[in-house]
Amino acid sequence: MHKPPVLGILGGGQLARMLALAAAPLGVKCLVVDEHADACAGHVAPLVVAGWSEHPRLLELAGQVDAVTFDFENVEAGLARALADRVAVWPPPFALAVSQDRVTEKTLFRECGIMTAEFAAVGTRAELDAAVATIGTPAILKTRRFGYDGKGQFRLKAPADADAAWQALGAQAIPDGLILESFVPFVREVSVLAVRGRDGEFRTWPLSQNSHTNGVLTMSLAPAPDIAALQPRADALARALAERLEYVGVLALELFVTAGGDLLGNEMAPRVHNSGHWTIEGAHTSQFENHVRAVLGMPLGDTGVRGPSAMFNWLGELPPMEPVLQTVDAHWHDYGKQARPGRKVGHATLCAPDGATLATRVDTVAKALGREVQAAPALRALRSG
Ligand code: AMP
Repeated sequence: MHKPPVLGILGGGQLARMLALAAAPLGVKCLVVDEHADACAGHVAPLVVAGWSEHPRLLELAGQVDAVTFDFENVEAGLARALADRVAVWPPPFALAVSQDRVTEKTLFRECGIMTAEFAAVGTRAELDAAVATIGTPAILKTRRFGYDGKGQFRLKAPADADAAWQALGAQAIPDGLILESFVPFVREVSVLAVRGRDGEFRTWPLSQNSHTNGVLTMSLAPAPDIAALQPRADALARALAERLEYVGVLALELFVTAGGDLLGNEMAPRVHNSGHWTIEGAHTSQFENHVRAVLGMPLGDTGVRGPSAMFNWLGELPPMEPVLQTVDAHWHDYGKQARPGRKVGHATLCAPDGATLATRVDTVAKALGREVQAAPALRALRSG
C-alpha cells in the first residue's frame, strides 16, 4: 500500500497549522512538535509535546518522518544540524543560523549584493558611542538575536539618546550582543516571497506591500502597486540569497523601498511568512502548499495570482467575523489561539477581480470593524490603477 509521506514540523503555531492544512490535500501527513500542549497546530495535526532542550527525544522523531521543517527560526542550530545528519531537514540549518543573528544576516545580504542600512555590532557602552559616531542618528538599536515584531528595539533620534538606549537594551548586550542600524527613510516596505525546490527550481510570488504598527505587521496588499520595475530586482536579490544558502522551501525577504527606488534588505525569514498569508486564496498555489511541495521534493506549483488581495492581521483578539463573512471572496482564518494582547490570533484575506473592487471591499470591511486602513494610499493607487 502507498505510504503517505510524513513531514515533521518543529514549532506548532499558526504557520505549522496552515502548513498542515495545505499538506492534507497532497496526501502528506504532518507531525508537529511544540513545547506547549495547547499549540494551535495540534488542533489539525498530531502534536508531540517536547521541550526544545530534549534533544534525544527530538532526534528520535527523525525516524518517524520523511523530512523536517520549521514554523519558527529560533530552533537551536545545533539541533537542526543533528537532525540533518539523520533525515532531510529543509530549510538548511545554515539558513536558520544566519537568520538568528542580525549582524550575520546583514553581512550575508551584502555578500549576496543586497544593500542594507549601515550597521555595526555593539557589545559594550563604548561600542555604542563609537557606532553612533560612525553611523549617526536617527538610528535603531536592536538585539542581535531573538528580536521579532519590533521587540528588542530602541530608536535613537539624537546621540544624546544613547544613554536611554543602553538602559533599555544594554543588559541584553551580554551574551547575545546588539546591532546599531541607521534609520532607513523608506517610502514603503515590501516583501518578496520565494520558493526554491530541491532541484534548484526558483519561483517568486508578486511583491506584498506591508504596513506595520509598532513593528508588527497589520496589513499586506498584494500584488503591491507599481512594482513593474521593482519585482525583477527583488526577485534577483531573493534568488541570490536562496542560492547562496542552498535553500529549499519558502523564504521571505523583507525590503525597504527608498524614495530613490533603492531596495534595502531588512531581514529574511527562513520559513513561510505572515506577509504571504494572502497566497492561500489570492494565488494559484499558496506559500504553505509550495513549502510542503519543495521540502518533500514535489514539483512546485504556479505562483501566479488570481487577482489583488488584502490581508488584515487580527492582533490580541478576533474582531466580529460577520463583516468579513458577508463580503464576497473574503476569507476568515481563526488560529484557535487564546486571546492575549498583541498576539497574532487570526487574519482575513479579501480578494477581488480588480483593484477598484478590492479597494471598495477593504473600505466596507474596515468601516464595519471601525478600523483605520494604513495602506490607504496604496489602495487609492489600486483603485485608479
Ligand atoms: P524588524 O524587527 O527588524 O523587522 O523591524 C520591525 C519594523 O521596524 C520594520 O518592519 C520597520 O518598519 C522598522 N524598522 C526596522 N529597522 C529599521 C531601519 N533600519 N530603518 C527604518 N525602519 C526600520
